[in-house]
Amino acid sequence: MDYSNNRYFDLFRKQKENQYKVANTNYKGRTKKLVAIKHAIEVTYKDQIREALYNDFKKPFAETDLTEIYQIIGEIKHAKKYLKSWMSNHKVSTPLALFGTSSWYKYEPKGVCLIISPWNYPLNLTFDPLVSAIAAGNTVIIKPSELTPNISSVMAKIIKDLFHENEVALIQGEVETSQELLKLPFNHIFFTGSPKVGKIVMEAAAKNLSSVTLELGGKSPTIIDETANIKSAVKKIVWGKFLNNGQTCVAPDYILINETIKDDFIQSFKTQLEHFFTKDVINSNSICRILNSDHFDRLINHLENAKSKNATIEIGGKSDSDKNFLEPTVISNLPEDASLLESEIFGPILPIKTYKTLYEAINYINSKEKPLSLYIYSSNKKNIDFILNNTRAGTTCINNNLLQASNHYLPFGGSNNSGMGKSHGFFGFQEFSNTRAILKQNFKGFIENFYPPYTSAKQKLID
Ligand code: NAD
Repeated sequence: MDYSNNRYFDLFRKQKENQYKVANTNYKGRTKKLVAIKHAIEVTYKDQIREALYNDFKKPFAETDLTEIYQIIGEIKHAKKYLKSWMSNHKVSTPLALFGTSSWYKYEPKGVCLIISPWNYPLNLTFDPLVSAIAAGNTVIIKPSELTPNISSVMAKIIKDLFHENEVALIQGEVETSQELLKLPFNHIFFTGSPKVGKIVMEAAAKNLSSVTLELGGKSPTIIDETANIKSAVKKIVWGKFLNNGQTCVAPDYILINETIKDDFIQSFKTQLEHFFTKDVINSNSICRILNSDHFDRLINHLENAKSKNATIEIGGKSDSDKNFLEPTVISNLPEDASLLESEIFGPILPIKTYKTLYEAINYINSKEKPLSLYIYSSNKKNIDFILNNTRAGTTCINNNLLQASNHYLPFGGSNNSGMGKSHGFFGFQEFSNTRAILKQNFKGFIENFYPPYTSAKQKLID
């Protein structure tokens, strides 16, 4: 195929030519690059990163530190600790029939990779896969979201500062930039974003048989059974839901609660919200804004749809379009066809559904697409096991939320509609690597006894 008319082909070609040089770096060389990224994010550019995210959607500095900067620092420290062992040869056993051989596998770089990232945790979701890609020895082209231009500019500066473009390059641009890049025959494409665009990415990748990692979204259910510690569950859910103002892929999307504890839950929720954000939420410095007017309008439409269907606004509901502000809002009594129960909410609205039996709760979850995350609040082991064994999800956190995404020892990713492939730690390294199987003949092998001609004596041996 002729790619010479593609605007990014020249850059792609340079990275392709350079890929073996990058691939042949040892763990010390790769670690040096990771440490340089760590220093840039933790020291040189820290203030610019905080300012940029504040300017993009008023993200509080503390949230930037916790969810963007420290996540990457943690990922780099983890990779630094284990990279040598990940890169080493991994010996495997030899079956008797292969006597005379030895076998091992190793992780080799995939080659030239593309990372397309979203706007909601723009630094983390660009640099986290980048750390894995560099650890695995690849060259990388990055296309961040056009919706958070301030942080994209800072990321572009960091990349330019640290890398030659024939190793890592960042291209800022709109959707059309992504589409042009997606035509090129990348060895791997790592995409984080919506399931809708995930399908477009996979279709484009299929044309070149590029492998893909799709980190997608969807509705993450939260089950609260009658044995849960309500006060503790509420505290964690209010934090998990309104961190980044609900614009988190693993945020609890809706609550499924035993009907006997719903009222206590809502009462406790009100108290906790006030504790975190005061009664004057709009002036709180502890909650960021909805990204832009498109997302604000989308959320208001959800709210109007719910109201038109006689749902109950239990908490919040007020908004200010000039500030893209919507109060943390809790809604119950939603009919099944309410738009809030159909699509990923990605904002500060939390629907509550009640259930009588756990069967009802898991049947409801299983009637939907497989979630990225499923949360369980319970102190009953049987109930926890029942839910774990009878539902499917990319990740689960029990008696808390979001934290499963920050343990570098755990794989992170969805399943089917919520994604494919895994990221973080070793799993991210593996995703950007080809697992190459190697068998070495050491001395005359048993198998040679069965080479042709197939005499009757040999046939007897095989029998
Ligand atoms: P998005 O899918 O709209 O955009 C993601 C990226 O794809 C952006 O860089 C954008 O420029 C590009 N893009 C958009 N449309 C495109 C097209 N038609 N062709 C090619 N490229 C295109 O997602 P978003 O709004 O930036 O992020 C929100 C979504 O991402 C939510 O669904 C959320 O759940 C999901 N998400 C998932 C994870 C995860 O780790 N699983 C993390 C964060 C966000």
